[in-house]
Amino acid sequence: MIQKGLLIVLSGPSGAGKGTICKALLPTMNTTHYSVSCTTRQPREGELEAVNYFFKSVDQFQEMVKQDELLEWAEVYGNYYGTPRKYVEETLAAGENVLLEIDIQGALQVKEKFPNGVFIFLMPPSLNELRSRIIGRGSETEESFNRRFGAASDEMKYISEYDYVVVNDVVENACNKVRSIITAERCNVSRNLEYYNCLIQEGGK
Ligand code: 5GP
Repeated sequence: MIQKGLLIVLSGPSGAGKGTICKALLPTMNTTHYSVSCTTRQPREGELEAVNYFFKSVDQFQEMVKQDELLEWAEVYGNYYGTPRKYVEETLAAGENVLLEIDIQGALQVKEKFPNGVFIFLMPPSLNELRSRIIGRGSETEESFNRRFGAASDEMKYISEYDYVVVNDVVENACNKVRSIITAERCNVSRNLEYYNCLIQEGGK
């Protein structure tokens, strides 16, 4: 028997630093894999197909929804975003962890389907800092900035839906916290009881 993989959901307002944390974290965790989402938004400078996102037309995205190919999907700031189901299911079945970096609407949908997931809310240290981070990207129009910033305080109201909150003040500290959460959840007894019992019965094989 293999240990089940964890479905880890990292969520939080735009500008909280989810992407930065994933980038710093993933090279240090070789059994945790990033789920590349689909989006109908235009690529930003430097973004690559199949690395940052699978970039889709609205028609293509709607067809994926129709074919039930997405584990969850949501309209976020005027574009569609969704998680391809197959990759998540296959990776978990192979005993490896999957990390979803998604918005709050998506996290709530995943929680319905995978109540055993690990739900982490990444919080900016302050609204001022959030404002600077979104502006600092230099890729948002005024309209897009207003939407993203305006949504943030609403989104903060959902923290009680999550298992953990990590305040992203210093990237390295926030990464350490997320890494510790994943490590602890991998060792959690009730989550892994069947696996541990099996280990004992198989004589430690
Ligand atoms: P961005 O346009 O800045 O890359 O992403 C905008 C928002 O969409 C972010 O909060 C990001 O986490 C979220 N997002 C990215 N991929 C997905 C996804 O597959 N599903 C959902 N629900 N949200 C996503």
